[in-house]
Amino acid sequence: MPAPCRRKAERSDMKDNPLGTEDNPGTGTEILRMKGITKEYVMGEEISHVLKGIDLSVREGEFLAILGPSGSGKSTLMNMIGCLDTPTSGEYYLNGKRIADQSEASLAHIRSKEIGFIFQSFYLLQRQTAFQNVELPLIYANMPDRERKRRVREVLAKVGLADKMDHYPNQLSGGQQQRVAIARAVANNPTILLADEPTGALDQGTGRQVMELFHSLNDEGRTIIMITHDRKIAEHADRIVSILDGNISEGDLDDA
Ligand code: ADP
Ligand code: MG
Repeated sequence: MPAPCRRKAERSDMKDNPLGTEDNPGTGTEILRMKGITKEYVMGEEISHVLKGIDLSVREGEFLAILGPSGSGKSTLMNMIGCLDTPTSGEYYLNGKRIADQSEASLAHIRSKEIGFIFQSFYLLQRQTAFQNVELPLIYANMPDRERKRRVREVLAKVGLADKMDHYPNQLSGGQQQRVAIARAVANNPTILLADEPTGALDQGTGRQVMELFHSLNDEGRTIIMITHDRKIAEHADRIVSILDGNISEGDLDDA
């Protein structure tokens, strides 16, 4: 049974954390730390340095945006954060675990337990209803039948789709499909919600609704890392880090 998240207001450590600043609200425990993460691809004679030494720390309850133009290394970094790919060098700790030390089985477990993935193109199964799409990861997680059905209804209601549970993806709008994907991502109560260009396939108004949903999930204590090229979208987050040409820096580069 997933533990309920604490509301932001209830987290007294937010007020007391000496590390807390406006740009980097201290919200308690550090749940992600990267130190000197690099990624290189060898293509024939050439080595392409895609990530050039990423240092990043994320605390529980943060809503962080990673902002950068196309080709800057955002998706590569997302794959590292999500344990979908391994760095060439550097250290990565997630929830206290050193990722380089984990077996493939343990990484699969971490991906399904610790990370809720959200992608630009939703990746819903077309022959499954909204309910079934959300239920699937809970089946993989061996959640008992009754609890599982209850949880699916609960998260679909949370994203405003209580009346659309039996619809197939092609019977839903883009924004609704992304909300199903968000329900699926939070169903298993992951440590981090990790979104790569979550509004990239949506019109502005629908994108804003998805951001409102992120705000309400974050208000409940959910940690969110959102990757985007869109400054307007990034500004929804409490903290922005910029990525440019494989290097990361605190804040929005254009504000400097
Ligand atoms: P973004 O998501 O910010 O657009 P990516 O992380 O997808 O950027 O890509 C960053 C750079 O890394 C690009 O120049 C891309 O061509 C290169 N790249 C990504 N994946 C590979 C790969 N598998 N092999 C070689 N180069 C890659
Ligand atoms: Mg990308």
